[in-house]
Amino acid sequence: MNCKKSSGLMLAYKYLNKDQLNELHNHLRKCETCSDIFKKMMQLEDFIEEQKKLNLSKDFSSRIMEQISSNPIRTIQPAWQIQTKRLLAAASITAIIWMGYKAGSFYNATTDSPNIEQEFAYINDVALESIDSWIME
Ligand SMILES: [Zn+2]
Repeated sequence: MNCKKSSGLMLAYKYLNKDQLNELHNHLRKCETCSDIFKKMMQLEDFIEEQKKLNLSKDFSSRIMEQISSNPIRTIQPAWQIQTKRLLAAASITAIIWMGYKAGSFYNATTDSPNIEQEFAYINDVALESIDSWIME
């Protein structure tokens, strides 16, 4: 048997009769190349079988459905409710900003404390220094 026939038999390995199997194994014992290919094919076959075992069990879908039904179903809010909530949120933010602005204008710092400019001048060193001291020699 040549390598070409051997590889053909390898591909149909599951469906070979006794004579064909003997023929193939005789070649595999003599031919290292075909023997390597055959080993790899068998490893692949094992891998595929393993994957099949790992495959989803028969009750997988029913377990999933059970999980879904055991969880409370979230009710979907109608669009107008969401929009109303957004409008209310926007309105309250606007109101807070407006109130802050109004509260700020009630307190007028310069009229409530007439000395503020003078006080500020003492805090601010630049105002105390003459402009000459800014000129570097
Ligand atoms: Zn060969």
